[in-house]
This record gives sequence, structure tokens and C-alpha cells, in this order.
Amino acid sequence: MKPAAFDYHAPTTAAEAVALLADLGDDAKIIAGGQSLVPMLALRLAVFDHLVDLRRLDELRGIETRDDSVWIGAGTTHAAVGRSAEVRRDLPLLHRATPLIGHFQIRNRGTLGGSIAHGDGAAEYPAVAMTLDAEIEALSPRGNRTIAASDFFTGMWTTALETDELLTGVSFPTWSGRSGFAIEEFARRTGDFALAGAAIAIRLDAASTLDRCAITLFGVAPTPVRATAVESELLGRSIREIDAEEVGRSALGSLDTVSDDLHGPATYRRRVGATITAQAWRRAVDEATAREEL
Ligand code: FAD
Repeated sequence: MKPAAFDYHAPTTAAEAVALLADLGDDAKIIAGGQSLVPMLALRLAVFDHLVDLRRLDELRGIETRDDSVWIGAGTTHAAVGRSAEVRRDLPLLHRATPLIGHFQIRNRGTLGGSIAHGDGAAEYPAVAMTLDAEIEALSPRGNRTIAASDFFTGMWTTALETDELLTGVSFPTWSGRSGFAIEEFARRTGDFALAGAAIAIRLDAASTLDRCAITLFGVAPTPVRATAVESELLGRSIREIDAEEVGRSALGSLDTVSDDLHGPATYRRRVGATITAQAWRRAVDEATAREEL
């Protein structure tokens, strides 16, 4: 199938883009890399009279190291994120997540902002944003606002963004000290969305006690989910006493419901999710404890 006819708009500034969104109302949709939107239009799962293309908005592209965070413009492609030396050094979790997204053709076109705004519960960048407590910046005719990642993803493909809001960038806090990061997932084929995945960030103090911990599960629910109860239970414990398999079982056990669809029943996702989470936990711990020896 082909998309239904639409009018095409290519603003050159963010202010112009949001003015267009305000004027055109619900009949308009932003298009960035098109890697999620175009298939939906082609299958007529979505129909819009107007598409507002972000490709001319240079102000939405770029990666900047700030005080305790790295800011990434919404229009920055996955490929540019993957190539960035700053991201590799300061946001290892985001760096490691990038090659897990689709295939290189998709990473060349797809944008960080598009992935966050699309809000797929199985996508890697939303899970990383949740894990690192990222702050999502939005512009509308009412001005700028910042939304915490924990408040941003509200349901499958739905977010806290209003229809006239443009996601302009995402600020990812950097973690210093004896930190370890891992993202692991299981997908049937390379490049497929994850059936179950886990993104983990931990930090140890000098006595190897866990003093910071974030565990996000993805692919198992309509949105990425932080296993906050498990994180609280683990904090303050010696890393040597924590059993990775137990972390995996507890994290999945803490979810009231798990997605149950044609890609995999809930019981299967719980089992795979627990194994994947345990694997990610071990990797994060290995990295954090190796820093002890430096
Ligand atoms: P678009 O498709 O252009 O837009 C997506 C949505 O976000 C639309 O609703 C659009 O209106 C909105 N939007 C985009 N930018 C903004 C903005 N700045 N402000 C407000 N709203 C905005 N993704 C994964 O995470 N993991 C995968 O494993 C994966 N596998 C894929 C496999 C295939 C075969 C394909 C086709 C895609 C896959 N994707 C995967 C999706 C891909 O990562 C997309 O690039 C990404 O989800 C959306 O980015 P985009 O720039 O292409 O956004």
C-alpha cells in the first residue's frame, strides 16, 4: 500500500515548525527520519493531511557535553550518536544501545528524537533515557518545557508531548565514579525489536556497596519500566552478596503484567526477561568492579 495524500511542509527553524503545528492542529504530524512513521503511513495505520519535515532544522542536530550531562539534539541520527566520541566516553549505555537498533540503513535515517517521541515500549533509546533519568526538552507556541523521562512515556506509542510540541533535545546525565553499564536484549533476528531487554546502570562506593542503581526493562510492557522496588531493595548492599539470577527474577516478578502478544506469551517473556536482566546485571557489575582495580 501507499500512504494517503498529504501536504508537505519543510520549515527551516524550530519556531516555524511549532507555528505550523499550532496552525494545522491534529491533522499535522512531524516527520523526522521516517523510519517508524512512514511504515505506519504506508500501511494506513496512521493518516495525516500534513507532514512537517524536520530535515532542514540544523538547530536540532548536535551533541554537546555540558556540566554533568550530554545534550543530544532531537534530529541527531542514531548513526551520529553511535559515532560520537563524547557519547562513547560519557554515555556508554547509549553508545552500547545504538547498534542494537534495527539495521545500519535505519540508523542512518532514524533520529534520537524520533525514537523518544515514538515511544515504542521495545525501543532501546527510551529505555536508556529512563535508566539515566534523562530530561526531554520540548518547544511549543507556549515556550520551552522539560519533561523527566519517568513522566514522558505514558503508553504504547504515546507520550507526554502535546500535538503542537516539538521535541528539541534530550539531556542525559553522566555518571561518574565506579559505575558500570549494560544493555542486553533478546530478539528473534538481528535488527528486530526486542522481545525482552534490560538496561542497567550501577555505581559502587569504595567498600563495593551499591550506592546507585537503575534497572529498566523493555520489550515486556507498553512502555519501558523501571524496576524501582528492586532497585530500592538492592541499594546499600554489598555487590558481592547480590545474586544476578535473583535480580533478574525479582525485576520481572515486580511487573504486574507483561506483554502477551503474537511475538511471545507473557510467561515466555518473563523467563527470557529474567535471564536477560541477569546477564545485563553481571556485565554492569563486571565493569564497575573492574574500575576498583584501576
Ligand atoms: P519518524 O519515523 O520520522 O517519527 C516517529 C514518530 O516520532 C512520529 O510520530 C513523529 O511525528 C514523531 N517525531 C519524530 N521526531 C519528533 C520530534 N523532534 N518532536 C516530536 N515528535 C517527533 N527502533 C528501535 O528502537 N529498535 C529497533 O530494533 C528498531 N528496529 C527497526 C526495524 C525496522 C525494520 C524499522 C523500519 C525501524 C526500526 N526501528 C527500531 C525504528 C527506528 O529506530 C526509528 O528510526 C525510530 O523509532 C524513529 O525515528 P525517526 O527519526 O525515523 O522518526
